[in-house]
Amino acid sequence: MIEHIEKDVFVRIKTDLLVVGDSIMTDRHHASNGNYEDDDPQNQIGGIIPAFPLSGWLRHGMEEVVNKYDGTACHPGEANANFMKEDVYERDLDDGYHEKGACTDDPKEDDGCVVFDLFGGFGGVPGKVMRRPIKFNPVRSSVDHTRGQAEGHYRRLNRNVVSRNADDNREPLRNAEVDAVANLDGCWHLSFREVKPEFVGLLAEGIDFLDAHKTDFMHQLGGAWNFGAGIVDCHLINPLYNERELKRVFDRGKGNTNKMDEKDDQWTEEYRPTFVEALEERIAEGP
Ligand SMILES: [Zn+2]
Repeated sequence: MIEHIEKDVFVRIKTDLLVVGDSIMTDRHHASNGNYEDDDPQNQIGGIIPAFPLSGWLRHGMEEVVNKYDGTACHPGEANANFMKEDVYERDLDDGYHEKGACTDDPKEDDGCVVFDLFGGFGGVPGKVMRRPIKFNPVRSSVDHTRGQAEGHYRRLNRNVVSRNADDNREPLRNAEVDAVANLDGCWHLSFREVKPEFVGLLAEGIDFLDAHKTDFMHQLGGAWNFGAGIVDCHLINPLYNERELKRVFDRGKGNTNKMDEKDDQWTEEYRPTFVEALEERIAEGP
């Protein structure tokens, strides 16, 4: 069955507002022809959401799934790193994590736990899933979903911190500018370097977990959790779809074909349960 799954899989991501600190890269410089005004609603600015926040968000969701099946996950931080909060790291190890890389004696020879196998990052091992950035564009017709792109608008938000003293009439004390993407809807493209059934099972379960917990503080995307940003609707697009069917998912004028419905049934009834079972077995085997 796993031979029917391509190396490239896509996650649909929808959010009203995403703030990922100052790390959104935009094309405003050449798009604006030198006349860019931050707050002009007519701006047609696209850009790139880097993979770092997306990857951390996904990984956290997957770790929860591993815990759900009574496994522990690789901690994302090196065991010998100089953590600012050593005691917090120690506490993590008591709470569903093992030290990064503790699950493998030789990372070049054996795969370690499923989280390490996927994300790597220790002993020069890159991990078996490549997380790509999402390129977004405000012009729908320019978005190529088969390349992991999304519709979305770049905005620069201004946050004023104002005086609390009544005499000051809310005079601003300082102003902070924040990069944001509004009305994001599109595809996140993940590529497996090697496709294993338990990887696909973990991805499907992890994405469902994140969707079910999207309003939890812990499982929002980006860094503006207190401001309603980063609440993400997400689902794994049926990996059995071909390219034409993937495009159709985003075509508002068209619904599923019969073939797509058939593939949805196959996915839900046969493929997914098989892959989740493989995941459970892998976790039960231990790291
Ligand atoms: Zn591990």
